[in-house]
Parts: sequence; structure tokens; C-alpha cells
Amino acid sequence: MRNNDWSRILGWRGYRVYRSEIDEQAKTLKLWVRRKGGEFFCCGCGRTVSEIAEVYEREVRDLPCFDYRTTVAVELYRLRCPDCGVKTEKVPQLPSKAPFSKRFEDAVGEACESAAARRVAKQFGLAASTVRSIDLRYLERWAANRRKPVLTQMGVDEIHLGKKQKFITVVSNLDSAEPAWFGRERKKETLDEFFQGELTARQRMRITAACVDMWEPYRLSLEQWAPNCRIVYDKFHVMQHANQAVDEVRRAEFFRKGGAIRGLVKGKRWLLLSRWMNLSSPKRQELTELFAMNRKIFKAYLLKESLDRLWTYRYEGAMVNYLHRWIEQLRWQRLKPFQKLAEMLVRHLDGILNYCRTKVPLGIVEAINGNIKSLLRRGRGYQNLRYLLLKAQRMAATRTEFVAFRKAA
Ligand SMILES: [Zn+2]
Repeated sequence: MRNNDWSRILGWRGYRVYRSEIDEQAKTLKLWVRRKGGEFFCCGCGRTVSEIAEVYEREVRDLPCFDYRTTVAVELYRLRCPDCGVKTEKVPQLPSKAPFSKRFEDAVGEACESAAARRVAKQFGLAASTVRSIDLRYLERWAANRRKPVLTQMGVDEIHLGKKQKFITVVSNLDSAEPAWFGRERKKETLDEFFQGELTARQRMRITAACVDMWEPYRLSLEQWAPNCRIVYDKFHVMQHANQAVDEVRRAEFFRKGGAIRGLVKGKRWLLLSRWMNLSSPKRQELTELFAMNRKIFKAYLLKESLDRLWTYRYEGAMVNYLHRWIEQLRWQRLKPFQKLAEMLVRHLDGILNYCRTKVPLGIVEAINGNIKSLLRRGRGYQNLRYLLLKAQRMAATRTEFVAFRKAA
């Protein structure tokens, strides 16, 4: 094949192939390319530079050609930039110092969107750690080229990463439905760091609402840094506490009673934490049997289910009334975890009622939380929080793109 044809097949803009080598045994193809001419750009500052200091060659892996793994040897120039000194020229096909072309990295990054790094590594014949660094660069390039969404309504959440890394704090943007920032631990200082490092004073003033858990350190930080922000103790976070209360009752009953009831309570955790309306009839039957045996668990479940209805009210007075009636039901029940929950709700009543005063989208915090957890379940290498954040943002963005596409179609 002529070099001209190789140049066309390769399709590197501004470059032509001057030599090729095919190894049939090894199934490899190697192409040597050099520039057709044109201007040189400094990779440091981007300006045009005419003085050349040195010519050298670099090899990168490109997309395969049929069955052949393809390597491109590129002739490159080191330039003498008046501002930066001796620097390599900027070449769009070579986005980093790693031995891969841009479109090869894009292909790996795209594959990582629907499969775990280990599987992509197998597919491309790379180490999993290499795939993760390619994916990270791919995501960084994507993030650099998009407009950062404005933050007016935020969610603050905590996610448990495991015994070693413990908690991270997740700040999310409720308007764009994506995570905005991750920080280690869940202290006041953690959230302070976000407000100080990520936002200008003006941007902090623009925040009007925050959906958070009833967790003092977060409240203190929000009050200090976002003076126009209304704290909303939203349904998702309150119901998490209600679920915990049900679970405490379940465990207490499990240990208190012996024999038959133990067998019945065992393995019912998930069922008890599910909403009744989401359960199939056999599952409902299982729960009904359990409730017939144990009144306390039954009561706890009903209390949790009825608390959920609090957010059907959009008027403060109605919400307060409903909550009072709910607390009334606790009397004589001797359900300690629920009494504690009731006290907590009363202490945070103002923030709960803010739901009526500020319109915040429900379910977003929960969805973002779920996405991050599914990423953590599926993959490794997320000790790097930046990687986890970009991954979760990309996930949110492609999902919305997908939805928008379906709407258009
Ligand atoms: Zn320069």
C-alpha cells in the first residue's frame, strides 16, 4: 500500500504517513508520520513559535486497524518559546504524556461508561490501573469543556465508603441533579472547605436552599457561609432516620424473643425498610405473618409508613398538625427509637417546615446518593475522590442527555 493511502486511512489531520510496517505474525501495524507543514504551537502557553530546538520521535497506540494493533510513531518538535523556554509543540492527537492517541483514550473512556475498568482492561489488553488513568484524563477533558452549572439549591449528604475511608461529604446541585463536590469526613470543616475553596462570596450569596440531614456540623457551616440559604430537612433524610428506628426495633425484638420469632424476624430487614406500596403480594404476606407474631414491629412499621405522608401537606399548619397527631400515637407504645426520633423532629421542626416555604425538588439527593453507591459497588480505584466525582457527574450528565434524546424522539 502506498503511503498516501495510509495517510488517508489513518486520518490524522495535518500529518502524512512516510513509512509503514506490517507484522503478520504479531498482528501489528506501525505507521510513521510527520507534519505536512503549518505553524507550531507551544504546549505551555499555546502561542505560535517558529524557532525549533530539536526534532524527536514518540510512539503512541492508536485505534486498531481491523485485526492489527496499531502504533503511530510521530515526529515531534521541541520549540524554543520566548515565554516558556524549550517546550514540546502542542499536538491535538496527543492529549497527554501517556503513550496513547486521543481517539484511543476516548474509546477507552467511552467503554468505561458502561463497564467496570477491569473488563475494559481485558478488552483493550491494558492493565486496569492504566485504564483508570485513561478514564480519568478522558473525564477531565470532558469536564474542562463544559459549562459549570450554577448552584442555587444544594444538597449535602454523607456517604459511608467503608471501614478504612469512613465518610465522605457529598455536595450536590439540585438544579442540574449532579454531585458538585466531594470532601473527606463529615465535619463542619469539611463543608467549610467547600464554601471557601469552591465558591466566591457572590456565589455563596446565590444559594437559596440546602437539603441536608439533621446533622449539626452541616447546619453550622451553612449558617456561617451561606446567609441566604434556607435549610430544609427533607423527606429523604428524615425517612432515613425513620428506617433506622424501625431497624432498631427489629433488632431489639430479635434479641429479646427466642425461638420461633427469631426465625421470622431474621432476614426481614430489607422488607421492613421497603414501602408497602412497593412490595409484591407474597412479600406483603410475609410481612403480615411477621406482624401477626410481633405487635411492636408492626407498630414500628406503621409509624414509619405514616410519617411518609407528612410531605403530602404543603401548608405549614397542616404539616404541624399531622406531625402532632403522629407523635400522639407514640404514647404508651414504649418504642424508644421512635420517641428519640420524635424528639429529633421537634427540635428540627423549623427546617422540616421549610419544605412548605421553599420549593425544592424531591428525590434528587436520593438519586445522586444511589448513583454514587452503585458506582462504588461496581468498581474500584475510587480512593481518588476526584475520579469518583467526575464519574458520578458524567453519569448524571449522560442520563439527562439520554432522557432529552428520548423526549426529542
Ligand atoms: Zn510558551
